[in-house]
Amino acid sequence: MVRRDEGAATTSAELRAHNLARLLRAVHDGAGQLTRAELTRQLSLARGTATVLVRELAGRQLIEELPSPADVRVQRTRGRPTGVPSAHPHGPVALAVDLRDDSFTLAAFELTGRGVVLDRQERDTRSGTAMLADVAARLTIRRRQFGDRVIGVGVAVPSPLSGGTMVQPTLADWQDVDVAGVLGHLTEEEAGPVLAGNDATLAGLAEARRGVLRGVPVALHLHVATGIGGVLLAGGQPVTGAHGSAGEFGHMPLAGGSDPCRCGSTGCWELDAGARGLLRAAGLGEQGDRMVQATRVIAAAADDRDCARALAQVAGALGRGIGALVNAQDPEVVGLSGLAAEVYQAAPDAVRTAYLAALMRFRRPQPPALLPSTLGDLGTLTGASELVFDDFLTPRGLSSWQPAARKTA
Ligand SMILES: [Zn+2]
Repeated sequence: MVRRDEGAATTSAELRAHNLARLLRAVHDGAGQLTRAELTRQLSLARGTATVLVRELAGRQLIEELPSPADVRVQRTRGRPTGVPSAHPHGPVALAVDLRDDSFTLAAFELTGRGVVLDRQERDTRSGTAMLADVAARLTIRRRQFGDRVIGVGVAVPSPLSGGTMVQPTLADWQDVDVAGVLGHLTEEEAGPVLAGNDATLAGLAEARRGVLRGVPVALHLHVATGIGGVLLAGGQPVTGAHGSAGEFGHMPLAGGSDPCRCGSTGCWELDAGARGLLRAAGLGEQGDRMVQATRVIAAAADDRDCARALAQVAGALGRGIGALVNAQDPEVVGLSGLAAEVYQAAPDAVRTAYLAALMRFRRPQPPALLPSTLGDLGTLTGASELVFDDFLTPRGLSSWQPAARKTA
């Protein structure tokens, strides 16, 4: 999760490798929107150095320099065009998987962070082992499709992780499973490193890099799916605790209930404010994809009285819990993704009223803003892809990259 610092570069070859990685990282972070001149300034490079580096990255098919939209005007007056380093059509691709206990989604991301969902599969049989076999089969197919462009696989996992293993998953046969290790083993093609992270942590990371939490010094992010997870982000970095399993806000008694929870505790927030809570409040059982079911309940709330009551109940529980967490964590803003964003957008007043009522008095004049994610379904997947790019955008990561022409030789 922590970005690797490659340390001080000592030789000129090391310095060049270091600067190539820095420049490519800046293209990635800037989503391929910054001109060469802007990147040069941002990285405090000499203009000549930047030109040489861009040429080398383009020669290695890591980037393609596109003409800047402003060039047409600039060229006429100054005659010195500055291109926009962007994703190369044969450049690196990170595969990302959003794993849930009832479905999975697979997407591909190019260097500039643009992602496309390629596969989505629902499963009714609750076998975690079979699910991972299905994911590996799809990864094998996509690895063959993209060839050596694949630089790694990021996996968002629906369980707290400790040392990379699922310590409390919802499926019994996932207990203590090292997802990244299993998928790396089952995928029939070498697809680079397989890296796993908690889904809610990765949703927050995605918001800090590409979404509503970009540039926020201290932010709280809440991701509601079947359960509720989240993460505190300081300087854009997830604070994940001593073992990597912090942020299990769904398993805190924030909404005042007292029912036993699947986690072993009682009165957990997710019993009232997660997808389970919404389905329960609407008097529905759990079958198939619970997020899809929960979204249907929210959509039906406009016409159906039971659904409207369930939505209001969950919105109140959500707001109350957010207020408690803001009291505890003092974030500047609160990001909301998954079902939390949907509930907030469907019932903003109910969430807000409960949120403000739960805040300590001194916070109420300036309550941290609640910001629904704009990344949609790609949020968690984007976070998973960032694990791969964090590993790749280093001198060591780039040294493994071979442009397409040489690969076929
Ligand atoms: Zn619990």
